[in-house]
Amino acid sequence: MHKLAQLDHAYVWHPFTQMRDWLKREPIVIVAGEGAVVRDARGREYLDANSSIWTNLHGHNHPRINSAIARQLKKIAHSSAMGLANEPASLLAAKLVQAANEICESKARAARKSQIANRKLEKVFFSDDGSTAIEVALKLAYEFTRRSRRADSLSAKRRLPQPRFLSLRGGYHGDTVGAVSLGHIDLFHKTYAGLLFKTDTVMAPYCYRCPFNRAKPERADARECRKCHWECVDAVEKKFAAQKRKENPYAAFVFEPLIQGAAGMIPQPAGWLRQVAEIALRHSALLIADEVMTGFGRTGIPQSPIANRQSPILFACHHEGVQPDFLCLAKGLTGGYLPMGATLTTQRIFDAFLGEYDKFKTFFHGHSYTANQLGAAAALASLELLQGPASVRARAKLEQVLREELRILWTLPNVGDVRQVGLIVGVELVRDWHTREPFDLREQAGIRVCEAMAKSGVLTRPVGNVIVLMPPYCTTAAQMRRTVFALRQSITETFV
Ligand code: PMP
Repeated sequence: MHKLAQLDHAYVWHPFTQMRDWLKREPIVIVAGEGAVVRDARGREYLDANSSIWTNLHGHNHPRINSAIARQLKKIAHSSAMGLANEPASLLAAKLVQAANEICESKARAARKSQIANRKLEKVFFSDDGSTAIEVALKLAYEFTRRSRRADSLSAKRRLPQPRFLSLRGGYHGDTVGAVSLGHIDLFHKTYAGLLFKTDTVMAPYCYRCPFNRAKPERADARECRKCHWECVDAVEKKFAAQKRKENPYAAFVFEPLIQGAAGMIPQPAGWLRQVAEIALRHSALLIADEVMTGFGRTGIPQSPIANRQSPILFACHHEGVQPDFLCLAKGLTGGYLPMGATLTTQRIFDAFLGEYDKFKTFFHGHSYTANQLGAAAALASLELLQGPASVRARAKLEQVLREELRILWTLPNVGDVRQVGLIVGVELVRDWHTREPFDLREQAGIRVCEAMAKSGVLTRPVGNVIVLMPPYCTTAAQMRRTVFALRQSITETFV
């Protein structure tokens, strides 16, 4: 075993990993990377087909991001955001606010007329990763709701119930305790039930396995051939109405827009997000959009007339003309280089935390590395790349290549659904596509396919029985073809 692998085995405890299995074989030790390729300690090369757990945007070792970090490093790596401002974080906050309001500043007249697009994100709270970006939104929404309800009910003098949150079945928002409370994946979350606060859950669209979808299995994306009456939207409406009757309307509605990641790359049919956002707003709930996975162009270049082609939409919500009260970002924020999170919100939320010092309205929350200067420098360089015409063209082309390549997978009997949203793909493995019969998780179907892919030089990680492809934007057409070819071969080999 390689020396580094030995050290890993001796000392490192890996996330979301059964360490008993891990210790049975030599791990791949990554030592270098360039573009979409990573290299291990033995000199073997692999395509990074899930962008290093959905983080990398422009490829590894990108000269522009490298030099932005190097330039920053010559000045300073980090200074505290508590009591001090800094150069790259100030610049980055301004750029994020600009990018997050493209929906309003573009020619999005149709969307602008609608309430769901009628707010402006004006403030940025920096943190460390996706989970902390969510925690910030959660705490702000909680306290904002308490304060505004207290102000409204001063004369009534009744005891106010705790603000309550609604999130989606299968939702995943991170692993800190607040984020876990908002999540609804039993496999990950049930163990910690005793630590969590109660939140409510509502049906999320999952057309492929929806009990209301009367369509027979077909060799096409289940969203396109579904036969239903939007029962998933009705479920949201009913939930909001029931909560209102309890005289404690939901404080906020939390969702992953366009596609739920850890639930199994489950995409929402076109129009779902817009409809549920309208329901939430009618019930005065705040919208918390978890764009930790979907942000920064992952969900593709929109075809919609509300898109401004010169400055393409970077966030999934905007594909449906929805502007949330909280936009939670991480993963791709620094181009996949450094850990950093950001929660964008409105002036209305910000104002609720203003007051005389002795009223203690301060948002008492923050981390040592908040607004880290190296991270902010990397993020600025990444945003600039992302907004350049070359990146927009590359993403549009890659999305198209991926769409064409994936078609071949429909010929495999163990492929039940192939779902693509921009540059995010989920391939659901089943025992038989005619019946949609799932594999038992214990059979490790997804893990076995990914192990076979690794042997042919393509790295990704499954979510249960769903194989994820999420290529860095610099992936060439040839590399994309190799990736899908490896996936196809691996599925065939695994289920002979
Ligand atoms: N939200 C979503 C939608 C995610 O996919 C993830 C991570 N997979 C998180 C939040 C948590 O992010 P992190 O792992 O950076 O804390």
